[in-house]
Amino acid sequence: MISTHPILKDVVLLGAGHAHVTVLRMFGMKPLPGARFTLITREVHTPYSGMLPGLIAGTYGFDDSHIDTGPLARFAGARLYQDEAIGIDLENRRVLCKNRPPVAYDLLSIDIGSTPNVGDVPGAALHAIPVKPIDGFLGRFEALRARVLAAKGNVSIGVVGAGAGGVELLLSVERRLERDVAAAGHDPAGLAFTLVGASDGLLPSFPAAMGRRFREICEQRGIRVFAGARVDRVETGALHLETGERIALDEILWTTQAAPAPWLRDTGLALDARGFVQVTLALRSVSHPEVFAAGDIAAVDGYQLPISCPSRASTRCAKARRSPKISAASSAARRPRRINRSVRRSTSSPRGSGPRSAPATA
Ligand SMILES: Cc1cc2nc3c(=O)[nH]c(=O)nc-3n(C[C@H](O)[C@H](O)[C@H](O)COP(=O)(O)OP(=O)(O)OC[C@H]3O[C@@H](n4cnc5c(N)ncnc54)[C@H](O)[C@@H]3O)c2cc1C
Repeated sequence: MISTHPILKDVVLLGAGHAHVTVLRMFGMKPLPGARFTLITREVHTPYSGMLPGLIAGTYGFDDSHIDTGPLARFAGARLYQDEAIGIDLENRRVLCKNRPPVAYDLLSIDIGSTPNVGDVPGAALHAIPVKPIDGFLGRFEALRARVLAAKGNVSIGVVGAGAGGVELLLSVERRLERDVAAAGHDPAGLAFTLVGASDGLLPSFPAAMGRRFREICEQRGIRVFAGARVDRVETGALHLETGERIALDEILWTTQAAPAPWLRDTGLALDARGFVQVTLALRSVSHPEVFAAGDIAAVDGYQLPISCPSRASTRCAKARRSPKISAASSAARRPRRINRSVRRSTSSPRGSGPRSAPATA
């Protein structure tokens, strides 16, 4: 789409997370004259994580479970830069990229997701396969599958993390490998599966009955479950629990609590204690009003999780409950008066620790 309007605002969408996909779709359907959108994304095909278990189980193909941001960006009249952001120069309002020159913005929205926290447990980064980033995981899962087939299915596989992602992942991996091992002419009974979680039950952020039901399902399928089992360290072929117990495993998948991108710490944005971007209910940075954050990377200031929202997916739930269907970045670009109101509120927030910037008007 070619716009004949002069460019008045550069809106940069960092990361092709779920919120930004919706923002692009909305602006494609209802363009905003004068606003130029730029999407910076590490990969052009962005995965829809809700379908990841189905992709692993073999129910869906790659194209079913990924969104091609190329046609989407064209539909929205947006520029698409395939690159990885490595920093933000807040003073000069530029996103710093790994391979291309900095990208200037008037408004910036960050939707870069999170990764499982392998940093806190010694050995996990070296010996476990993190489920995110998903693009990296899919390649590592294919390599795991090849090792399982080479071992004729005599492999023990463990998933660390008994939240929704971990339980879903384990059941999907089990289904896929049993089928593939049988199809290769080996006995799938050689496969052994283990689920390890630090909380007392499975699915700790869901009602207890749901956790019990999934535990029954695991037992029926012969899956060993270690609940209330905190992993202390990981070594080749084994997990060590805080209790001193050792669990021997050939393959270890890691889906524990999410961690933010470490480079955010150097930006000067106000972050919460764990390093997620602190935002208001309008998903606007509490320290820099021209910056927004959505999805896993955002920590909504003062918002309590409803019980049915899985861990870090919280902000998406918050967004769905508190905001209109489009993200704060899009509503900010459309409604300058709302921006100014929320700028006043956020700049007076006592929680913002970073420097204050001049309010942005869209
Ligand atoms: C197995 C599994 C199943 C799940 N199922 C569900 C479910 O059914 N429902 C649900 O609500 N949640 C589910 N989740 C949780 C869900 O993954 C996250 O809550 C959701 O993906 C978060 O979306 P997001 O927009 O924050 O970012 P993501 O969807 O993670 O997207 C972030 C994007 O930013 C890009 N990116 C990251 N860093 C950079 C960078 N530096 N520069 C440029 N681009 C970058 C990434 O490549 C990616 O495309 C599941 C998670 C797992 C692991």
